[in-house]
Amino acid sequence: MRLLQEKIKNDGQVLSDQILKVDSFLNHQIDPALMLEIGKEFAKRFANEGITKIVTIESSGIAPAVMTGLQLNVPVVFARKRKSLTLTEGLITASVHSFTKQETNEISIAQKFLNAEDKVLIIDDFLANGQAALGLIDIVNQSGAELAGVGIVIEKSFQDGAKMLSDQGIRVESLARVASLANGEVTFKSEKVEELV
Ligand code: 5GP
Repeated sequence: MRLLQEKIKNDGQVLSDQILKVDSFLNHQIDPALMLEIGKEFAKRFANEGITKIVTIESSGIAPAVMTGLQLNVPVVFARKRKSLTLTEGLITASVHSFTKQETNEISIAQKFLNAEDKVLIIDDFLANGQAALGLIDIVNQSGAELAGVGIVIEKSFQDGAKMLSDQGIRVESLARVASLANGEVTFKSEKVEELV
């Protein structure tokens, strides 16, 4: 998605050869117009899948997920990273290990919002090692719902997540695929699909 690649080039900060900071439009301040375009793009890519629900994880997945839900006209459920006082019964949980934070968190979704009739699209901001996506997939599987695929705003293709999910037969649609962050520069994986968008 060219608009997103331009935004990353112009406003993203390469913190190291592993970490890209995009807090001016995705992870802290949010660019609503860009989020709308992202939602349209995910909706287009999964238009024929019969999606009934979007599942994401708080907090940075919520903005792109809501815009996608708006376009597909389906509800959006976000997994919580912390136990909520009001969210106590009927939880589906999974463990997610964060390599960046070096900690394992339990994430959860209320059972009543996902069931065996659902066809789910998972949306998240970044795909690095794939642990967050695996946790969400675990929750979708436990609920009995069907997984249509995973939509990622920024995939860091030099890390293991994308390949690991594809090897499991999971459809992964990433709107920007970063091949390298070496030398303080963002290099995208060039692809026909992205060039056409
Ligand atoms: P994974 O579980 O795929 O290793 O990492 C996914 C999560 O880690 C993302 O949802 C995101 O919150 C965070 N993350 C991983 N890499 C980056 C990065 O380069 N930049 C930012 N801002 N977040 C990242």
